[in-house]
Amino acid sequence: MSSHCFLMTIVQRGALLQWEFKPGCQSPSLIPDFNLHEPLAGVAESPNHLEQFWVPGPIIIGAGPSGLATAASLKDRGVPSLVLEKDSCVASSWKLRMYERLKLHIPKQFCELPLLPFPSDFPAYPTKEQFISYLESYVERFSINHLLGVEVQCAEYDPGVGLWRVSADGTEFVSRWLVVATGENSEPVVPEIQGMSEFKGRVLHTSCYKNGSEFGGERVLVVGCGNSGMEICLDLCNNRAQPSIVVRDKLHILPREILGRSTFGLSMLLLKWFPMKVVDSFLLLCSWLILGSTEPYGLKRPKIGPLQLKSESGKTPVLDIGTLAKIRSGQIKVVPGISRFTDRGVEYVDGRQEAFDSVILATGYKSNVPSWLKEGEFFNEKDGFPRDPFPNSWRGKNGLYATGFSRRGLLGSSVDAQRIAEDIASQWNSKIEHTPLGVIDTKLYSHL
Ligand SMILES: Cc1cc2nc3c(=O)[nH]c(=O)nc-3n(C[C@H](O)[C@H](O)[C@H](O)COP(=O)(O)OP(=O)(O)OC[C@H]3O[C@@H](n4cnc5c(N)ncnc54)[C@H](O)[C@@H]3O)c2cc1C
Repeated sequence: MSSHCFLMTIVQRGALLQWEFKPGCQSPSLIPDFNLHEPLAGVAESPNHLEQFWVPGPIIIGAGPSGLATAASLKDRGVPSLVLEKDSCVASSWKLRMYERLKLHIPKQFCELPLLPFPSDFPAYPTKEQFISYLESYVERFSINHLLGVEVQCAEYDPGVGLWRVSADGTEFVSRWLVVATGENSEPVVPEIQGMSEFKGRVLHTSCYKNGSEFGGERVLVVGCGNSGMEICLDLCNNRAQPSIVVRDKLHILPREILGRSTFGLSMLLLKWFPMKVVDSFLLLCSWLILGSTEPYGLKRPKIGPLQLKSESGKTPVLDIGTLAKIRSGQIKVVPGISRFTDRGVEYVDGRQEAFDSVILATGYKSNVPSWLKEGEFFNEKDGFPRDPFPNSWRGKNGLYATGFSRRGLLGSSVDAQRIAEDIASQWNSKIEHTPLGVIDTKLYSHL
C-alpha cells in the first residue's frame, strides 16, 4: 500500500504516466516535499533537461532479495531509500524467470534476509512460492518504497555536484548514494552455436522454462549441467519426456545431505575448524560413499575439490536431488558437447548426430551492469561484477555500493545489505540534514 501511494504521487508529475497505480490516493501538494530538496534545486540541474527527482536517501537499483534486504536494513537504521525496478513486480527473477518445481537449493537458515525470519512452518527447503510470499511480506513489513516498471538506462556520478544521476525512461533521479542490486543473474546467457537458426524444433532458455508438462513424449536436449540443468532434466523425466544432458566439462556432484545434515551447512561448519582442502577431501569421500563414482556415467570430477573450485572460479557444485539416479537408470542420457545444430537436432563434437524435438539452454546468466553503469573502477566492465571479490565487493567510491555480487547467494546478500546500511547510516546520521522520507510517507497515508 505504501508503495502504491508513493508511486501515484510521482505519476502526477506527468513524466511517468505509463506507470499505472492505485487510483484515488492523489496528493499533488505533497510532491515538492518528496521531489526536490531545496538546497540542491538548480545545483543539480539535469544536463539533458530530464524531469528530475531528488531522492533524499540512497537509490537502490533492483527489487530482488538483495535490493530489498538493503532497503530494509537502511530503514531499520532510520535511512529512507528508493528502490527502482525494471519489471512490473518485486522479486521478478523468482516470479517470472524461475521454473515451478524450484525449491531453495540450500537450507532456509542460510537464505533468510536480515531482520525477518522465515515463518516457522516453512520446510527446510522452502518452495519458490513460499520464498516469493516471504519477499512480499518483507516489502510490506518494512514499507519499502519502490517504483516498478522503471528500467535504469544510465547511472553516472557527477563530480561537479557530488551526486549520482540515474536516468530511466526520460526521468532523472538524483542522490548522494547509489546501490547496485541488479544481480548476478540479470540477463540470460544464450551461446551462439552454429546452425541454431536452422533447427526446426523449439529452443528456449531456462528462464522461460516453467514445467515439463508441455514436453511429454518429446526428446529434449538440455545444454548445461549446473543445478538448474540437472533439476530440469529430472522434471522432464517426471513428465514423460526423454531428456539428454550435455556435459562438456568436469563437474562436482554432491549429495544435498550428508549424515542427515545439509552438505552446505556441514561445509560451513567444518570450514570454521579445518582448511578448505581438508573439508573438500571429506566432502569427496562422503560423496563417493553416498553417490558412488560418477565417472562411469560421463560425469568426471575436476582435480581440485568443490569448495576450492567455487572459491577460485565461482563454479557451484551440483547438489543432487535425484537426477543422478535417473542418469544411472538410463532415463537421462549424458551426451558430449555440441559442435553444431542440424535442422532436426544436433551434431556432437565426436561427429555423432542425434534428433531432438526441443533444446533447453541451461547456460546461465550474466550481470547487466556494464550496459547502464558509467563507471569503470569499482565494477569490471567485462563481467559486470565488482573487481574485488567478497568480502570487499560491497563498497566503491563516491557513495557507490554493490549488493548481491558475492557469488555467495542470499547469505552474501544479507552480509552486503548490513554493511551497506551501516556505512550509509553513519553518513546519514552524522553529516547531513534531511527531510526524512518516512515523515513524508506518513503525511501521504494520513489522507487515505
Ligand atoms: C535457479 C536459481 C536458484 C537459486 N537458489 C538459491 C538458493 O537456494 N539460495 C541462495 O542463497 N541463492 C540462490 N540463488 C542465487 C541468488 O540468491 C538468487 O539469484 C537471488 O535472486 C539473487 O538476488 P538479487 O536481488 O541479487 O538478484 P535478482 O533476484 O536477480 O534481482 C535483481 C533485480 O534487479 C532488476 N533489474 C535488473 N536490471 C535493472 C535495471 N537496469 N533497472 C532496474 N531494475 C533492474 C531485475 O529485474 C531484478 O528484479 C539461486 C539462483 C538461481 C538462478
